[in-house]
Amino acid sequence: MTDTNVITHDVIVVGAGLAGTWAALAAGREGVTDIGVLSKLHPLRSHSGAAQGGIAAALNNVRPVADTGPRGPLEPIPVGDEPVDSWELHMFDTIKGSDWLGDQDAIEVLVKEAPEIIYEYEHMGCVFSRLPDGRIAQRRFGGHSAPRANYSADYTGHVLLHTIHEQALRHGVKFYPEWYCMDLIIEDNVCRGVVAMDVLTGKLYTMRAKAVMFGTGGYGRAWKITSNATANTGDGVAIAYNAGVPLMDMEFVQFHPTGLYGKGILMSEACRGEGGYLRNGDGDRFMEKYASGLMELAPRDLVSRSEQTEIEEGRGVGDDKQGIYLDMTHLGAEKILSRLPQVRELALEFLGVDIIHEPVPIQPTAHYSMGGIPANADGQVIADGDGTPVVGFYAAGECACVSVHGANRLGTNSLLGASLFGRRAGKSIAKFIKDGAELAPISGDPTQKHEARIQHLMSGPTDKKESVAQIAAELKETMTKNCGVFRTEERLQKALQDIKQLQERFKNARVMDTSRRFNTDLLGAIETEHLLTFSEVIVASGLNRQESRGAHFRTDFAKRDDEKWLKHTMAYKNGDDGPKLGYKSVNIDWEKYPPQERKY
Ligand SMILES: Cc1cc2nc3c(=O)[nH]c(=O)nc-3n(C[C@H](O)[C@H](O)[C@H](O)COP(=O)(O)OP(=O)(O)OC[C@H]3O[C@@H](n4cnc5c(N)ncnc54)[C@H](O)[C@@H]3O)c2cc1C
Repeated sequence: MTDTNVITHDVIVVGAGLAGTWAALAAGREGVTDIGVLSKLHPLRSHSGAAQGGIAAALNNVRPVADTGPRGPLEPIPVGDEPVDSWELHMFDTIKGSDWLGDQDAIEVLVKEAPEIIYEYEHMGCVFSRLPDGRIAQRRFGGHSAPRANYSADYTGHVLLHTIHEQALRHGVKFYPEWYCMDLIIEDNVCRGVVAMDVLTGKLYTMRAKAVMFGTGGYGRAWKITSNATANTGDGVAIAYNAGVPLMDMEFVQFHPTGLYGKGILMSEACRGEGGYLRNGDGDRFMEKYASGLMELAPRDLVSRSEQTEIEEGRGVGDDKQGIYLDMTHLGAEKILSRLPQVRELALEFLGVDIIHEPVPIQPTAHYSMGGIPANADGQVIADGDGTPVVGFYAAGECACVSVHGANRLGTNSLLGASLFGRRAGKSIAKFIKDGAELAPISGDPTQKHEARIQHLMSGPTDKKESVAQIAAELKETMTKNCGVFRTEERLQKALQDIKQLQERFKNARVMDTSRRFNTDLLGAIETEHLLTFSEVIVASGLNRQESRGAHFRTDFAKRDDEKWLKHTMAYKNGDDGPKLGYKSVNIDWEKYPPQERKY
């Protein structure tokens, strides 16, 4: 290493979404002064800012009007009246939503601290939608038995991210916008820093730190139809895995029931929370058949499967009959314009449909990664099934698996989890630094390996090499076809085979742009390599899990099998041989919340 390519901070956070920014802010508030936050995007373009529908907490501000049933209209709860919601109810809903794979000790932390973090956002000036008396408005969301989604029209993530970003700046956090993390340096189970590229110049740096935190977000971009931003390529997950950290529960990927038809762009669950219907090609509200209690507000895994069943049985809509209608025409212009303005704009812009007047065609879309880097409720990354921490390495948000979402996340629990576990990670990092953490030495120059990787991608005859874009397209095709809402041994084997071949072909991939300044061609290649790395783990973990639980549905093993499979998957990198799979027990309170059949 030369002095010119080494940067040192006490703490390096990778990711400027809600998880990373909260971690930086919380550590800053505890007195850590030297914090650098890297983001491959401008921080405010992080995917957290695209979140629409809401953030969960049992605030008890609204309830259904008496005698109108659980789906009736909502009214403010007069101050002093009996509460309808509680952290216990939120906890049970989350456990049931997770299909009993969520760790119950972590879920308890999530739901108990939820109101506090909402009020913290409020005190920072976050512009929530309000009730007439000024309290925060709430609406319904799938799988939640009370209206507990706190929101700001359908721009919730946008307002939360802006609020917290300002606070981080105020606390002197240093942001590195458009810096790309390429590697995580762990030696002898001690994290020592990262390798990163300043995208503007293309120069590589070793960034040394006493503690590193990953808040690198999700990885929906491995599928063709996804609600995720282009940047959601799971870099952090792949980088951690390559550095020897296991990945947990990667087979559990959520398909959101309402992505715009053919595009995948999200029509928030708030559309159904505000009373929208799902209809098949015959005009029927088919959810009656699959979840007569909660109807359209059943959890996402169940609704997506119901839609897919309707489609596969020939009752779909759209040109190739692969869609379903989301019908909000009965909600009225006023409600749509005040509560769902963004959703209306998206449908208008991308499909030319005005949801005030017509139903909009939608389809399941790859949306959320329940699995990821295993971390405890204090954000410490763990190295094995016994919970041994990787010293100095932390993770929170969608790239992490705590695991509060288990096999299926409930809507609005993610903004909550990213904020709350980000904040907890920041606090425990501050403690680690104050307890005397030291800068650990790094052997050799870790940038050299990546310099060689870049040279390899940029060299060789242009006509003989594989196209990165083509490889990425084929990966997305096979993941969509063979590792989607419904899975089988045969389909997963096919996906695995395809991924292996694509990985081989990638060795001959070449990027055409050989400049170093803002080379998006090069970044695209590195991201594609990451997609290939973790997709293999998703498919291998899914192949092994011979049961159906939450979002992982095997038509050849259609039942949940608690005897064999009530356990977390832990996938360890094993050279080029594909992951070595191990398992970890689920934390369950057998007296209070024993596994039950999951019906809605
Ligand atoms: C369209 C949409 C709507 C949603 N709506 C809701 C909702 O209403 N309620 C809810 O609870 N959840 C919702 N979710 C889910 C939720 O928004 C996300 O799970 C959550 O915001 C993730 O936050 P995060 O901080 O973990 O990651 P992100 O906000 O995705 O941030 C990731 C950060 O990591 C950085 N990064 C990644 N890789 C690198 C790298 N290699 N080098 C440097 N930086 C890197 C990025 O630049 C970015 O700053 C929605 C998701 C989507 C896609």
